[in-house]
Amino acid sequence: MTATAGGTATVERVESYLDAGRIAARVAELGAEISARGCSDQPLVVVCVLKGSVIFFADLVRHIRQPTNLVFLGVSSYAGALETSGAVRLTHDLTIDIAGRDVIVVEDIVDTGLTMGYLVGLLAQRGPHSLRVCTLLHKPARKRVDVSLDQVGFTIDDVFVVGYGLDFDERYRNLPYIGVMHFDTAG
Ligand code: 5GP
Repeated sequence: MTATAGGTATVERVESYLDAGRIAARVAELGAEISARGCSDQPLVVVCVLKGSVIFFADLVRHIRQPTNLVFLGVSSYAGALETSGAVRLTHDLTIDIAGRDVIVVEDIVDTGLTMGYLVGLLAQRGPHSLRVCTLLHKPARKRVDVSLDQVGFTIDDVFVVGYGLDFDERYRNLPYIGVMHFDTAG
């Protein structure tokens, strides 16, 4: 239960939206698609966007049947809010040079597209041989920036989701499924 500024209490409730079995099946398909593209002479650079995509990333890379380098990139999150502030900030940079490399960015969700637009712009400047984007979820209803998405796990409605890595105020990341967050008025 949470007390709001006006003194009204709200109760958080998570309603199942995508169950663990459905997610696992789709993640396996995405991994197979990546594997089917074959490999160049250097390992595929797979970028995990912290923290939301960490669970998706861990599951996805185990379905990729080619040599990989696994790397991590941190960007600022909503920090307890349901809406993006619009300002994207890098909190942890890659630890390898991606010039001339085949790179795939693994993201949990593309909502307005601001975060992915920023990341693609940043990584493209570093001269990769190829740069692809794989997102587990896509919320097209809220698009503000056009970003080319090479792979989308699920296109979802305009709802705020948690679980399978996605948080609300740093909670719910460990749910094995994806659920819609509801805020009910208590009493
Ligand atoms: P965008 O910049 O596309 O608006 O948002 C990207 C980031 O916002 C995601 O990586 C994620 O951290 C956060 N985000 C967007 N929509 C949701 C949502 O429905 N649930 C959660 N938990 N995070 C979201």
